[in-house]
Amino acid sequence: MSLEDVENIKKRIENFKKTLMELTEAPDSQETAEHKVREMSAEVVDSNPYSRLMALQRMGIVKNYEDIRKYTVVVVGVGGVGSVTAEMLTRCGIGKLVLFDYDKVELANMNRLFYQPSQAGLSKVTAASMTLTKINPDVKIETYNTNITLSTQFEEFLNVLKTGGINGDRVDLLLSCVDNYEARMTINTACNELGLKWFESGVSENAVCGHIQYIVPGESACFACAPPLVVASDIDEKTLKKDGVCAASLPTTMGVVAGLLVQNSLKKLLGFGTVSWYLGYNALSDFFPSMMIKPNPNCSDNFCLKQQLEFKNRVKEEPECTNVDLPEDIVTHENNEWGISLAEDEPTASSNTTELAEPLKTENVNNSARSDEEYLSLNDGIEFAYPSADQTAPNEESLVKETELNVDDLRKQLSLL
Ligand SMILES: [Zn+2]
Repeated sequence: MSLEDVENIKKRIENFKKTLMELTEAPDSQETAEHKVREMSAEVVDSNPYSRLMALQRMGIVKNYEDIRKYTVVVVGVGGVGSVTAEMLTRCGIGKLVLFDYDKVELANMNRLFYQPSQAGLSKVTAASMTLTKINPDVKIETYNTNITLSTQFEEFLNVLKTGGINGDRVDLLLSCVDNYEARMTINTACNELGLKWFESGVSENAVCGHIQYIVPGESACFACAPPLVVASDIDEKTLKKDGVCAASLPTTMGVVAGLLVQNSLKKLLGFGTVSWYLGYNALSDFFPSMMIKPNPNCSDNFCLKQQLEFKNRVKEEPECTNVDLPEDIVTHENNEWGISLAEDEPTASSNTTELAEPLKTENVNNSARSDEEYLSLNDGIEFAYPSADQTAPNEESLVKETELNVDDLRKQLSLL
């Protein structure tokens, strides 16, 4: 028997092991069906998995928590951030989760949360689906073990976004948890084409910085509006990776970023609080910069330009009014037995860096009311690297004066310089 044959047999044994594990770990469909609940109950008993979530309604934070079951969220990339994101949404009882990833679970991932050493070798989407279904069988989970950046997969990706919703309609939100620019650009292209709202997220290579960014095509900057230098310079990012050198990662930073991502997704879907446009996290100084980035009128993505035009027209049609309906029955604890009262919040500079979560926003909220100054006002600790276009505009004196001379005369003058 040759060495090659031995290697082949070893591979086959490994594959048998994986298949066996998938079959034995797969949840029994009958047992699962018994655990499924028809309605989310607010009853406070130890056996109710939703009692603490439904309490958000009683506390006046959320109008109708059970609405969460209507929503479909797509998570692209189920690595360090995406897997934790998917778990949080599953525990919150989201209606449907669609997971995209083409990678496998590796032992080198074990410094992060979610995956277990016994799952090494399985595709990330299979391993995630098995764990998530066990955690909450009420959540419908659909998986795609595909690389969305391949041109052959793009149509399928677009089609899932268009029809992957809980009733065969469009999905409600996409969360990007990928680790490369190529995949972010693919997501950006698809979401601009469909006008689909999405969150971009990222963690730095040194593991101590992260961010989330809410992208509403046409209203806020898309990923191509202000591309990173690598993308703008058309450099193939794969050429930047060196053999034997890998990015650092911490479960803490990834957990914080996943938490911020799901928190803002819940606020957007269930309509409470304000949704951050861009929220950064610097773990070294516990600094959370927040800002709004306007779309670039010269964006390289044609669908972004189309969405910008549509957004402008939509805003023009909306009547000017800034009244916003706030949820009733907010618990203020003014007369509670502990004598706790809430102090009025000081207005903060970040108040213009967030958007009201959608269901709370009345049709009358006029986004055109935001002036350029409001967009450009920055929180403490943030400054522009370059002066604004207005500051660099030429003054009267620096402009070339009109002259009677023709082009040949000017060329002669130029050659004498
Ligand atoms: Zn754009």
